[in-house]
Amino acid sequence: MSDDCIFCKIVAGDIPANVVRETDATLAFLDVNPLAPGHTLVVPKDHYERLGDMPSDVATEVFHEVYELVPRVESVVDADATTVGINDGEAAGQEVPHVHAHIVPRFEGDGGGPIHAVAGERPDLSDDDLTDLAAEISATHRE
Ligand code: 5GP
Ligand code: ZN
Repeated sequence: MSDDCIFCKIVAGDIPANVVRETDATLAFLDVNPLAPGHTLVVPKDHYERLGDMPSDVATEVFHEVYELVPRVESVVDADATTVGINDGEAAGQEVPHVHAHIVPRFEGDGGGPIHAVAGERPDLSDDDLTDLAAEISATHRE
């Protein structure tokens, strides 16, 4: 637990949240400032700042909870679709430094965009650049 982390405090029960699901390693609760009705956050109970900081089994459980929740939330709020996203790091917009997956219900004509709308200007990469990048990523190990 990180002392000044708001999500650690929610996990510990020190501040209230609208909890929707709990497993040994995860907690899911409604976002206090929702982008849509049913906007849910799934967090690991232990404090990890970045996606890659989680052990593999915890990462698996977090994603499993996303898998379990998306159809449930969609059905409760009668959504047409869902955007699932993780702001992984400050430069990507992460404000709470405790891993959390957003489940954002989406509705026809809700005025929102696809996940493609989150990045800035698109890079100009050739086919060779893409081939080189794929090879480099494929040969790299996690730190
Ligand atoms: P981030 O920008 O870090 O990906 O998203 C943080 C999310 O946490 C925001 O959507 C924000 O509304 C939500 N949030 C921040 N503080 C609290 C809180 O105390 N309780 C709950 N339930 N959600 C919070
Ligand atoms: Zn935390």
